[in-house]
Amino acid sequence: MKLGVVGLPNVGKSTLFNAITEAGAEAANYPFCTIEPNVGVVAVPDYRLTNLEKMYNSKKVVPAVLEFVDIAGLIKGASKGAGRGNSFLSYIREVDAIVHVVRCFDDEGIIHVDGSVNPIRDIDTINIELIMADIDSVKKRMDKTEKTVKSGDKKAIEEMELLKKINAFLEAGKCIRTMKLTAEEKQLTDSFFLLTSKPVIYCANISETQINKENKYVEAVKKFAEEEGGRAIEVCAKIEEELTKLDKAERADFAKELGLQGSSLDLVITAGYSLLGLISYLTAGEKEVRAWTITKGKKAPQAAGKIHTDFEKGFIRAEIVNYDDLMAAGSMAGAKEKGKVRLEGKEYIMQDGDVVIFRFNV
Ligand code: GDP
Repeated sequence: MKLGVVGLPNVGKSTLFNAITEAGAEAANYPFCTIEPNVGVVAVPDYRLTNLEKMYNSKKVVPAVLEFVDIAGLIKGASKGAGRGNSFLSYIREVDAIVHVVRCFDDEGIIHVDGSVNPIRDIDTINIELIMADIDSVKKRMDKTEKTVKSGDKKAIEEMELLKKINAFLEAGKCIRTMKLTAEEKQLTDSFFLLTSKPVIYCANISETQINKENKYVEAVKKFAEEEGGRAIEVCAKIEEELTKLDKAERADFAKELGLQGSSLDLVITAGYSLLGLISYLTAGEKEVRAWTITKGKKAPQAAGKIHTDFEKGFIRAEIVNYDDLMAAGSMAGAKEKGKVRLEGKEYIMQDGDVVIFRFNV
């Protein structure tokens, strides 16, 4: 699953991207790699893995991962080909969700492309480009559908109606993710691959002098995100990037000095994970402790298929204990004694934090 980091030039995208990927690189045992200069794979922070590692004395920990893509180059007019225009938009098309970085710091030394700091105007600038690109996609789709509508095809007629509704919504300057759709409409809309139907996290990038202070820019971004039914997170990308250069002990001291509570990068990563509708189930043993990523609502056999296709094909049942129950019991044997280990069948819907052993036929 991929998250694309977007925003106007000079808002702190690269700084945030570097901080996220560097922090991932540092975390002990966590696999990290940069596939391309602008793509980083980061571990999803999960304290449960550390505790399971201790319980099982495991040799290896394999966390869930997310991919971040730094998508530079969006400027006004991109949807009409300005700057890197369409190539930029095609990068966004490939991601599952968007991290939209918004400048909320004053710094006279760093030029703002539109001359002043104004987060809502900036958000609109980016969103309008995405909306224009979507209008183009919808128009193209309408042209294609039109041919089948003429032959009286019922599906095509329905699709055309929806396309018209979507087009009007976009023309009104609104992002499709805020449109109320029925389940069927939603499914059909997904097949249009629109940029503005992707979920968004707004990252309000504040100045290092503004930590824990009231900030009118951040308030505005939070309000905007709320109205969209989305989420805004406050980060100071610059400080986070500096923190990643320190070792663990120094980092904790420095963070405390600054009055930071926990890592805002972790917040961005975990918010991204849940925004994508992802949950983790866990497997634990001496060899390794591991988090497996699935989308919410997956049944046990499909979840097992993540490990190996044979696990899905030959699925018999799953032995499952909730992470908290396992911790409270102190061991798998203890949890069994307490009756906390359940046998679940093919229809079981997996829950976040299920610690699982799959039984299957080969
Ligand atoms: P991008 O063009 O959006 O990728 O922006 P960059 O990450 O390259 O940042 C542009 C400039 O803003 C750089 O000089 C950064 O050091 C600076 N910058 C980024 N975040 C902050 C911040 O939180 N505070 C301050 N003062 N400067 C920042």
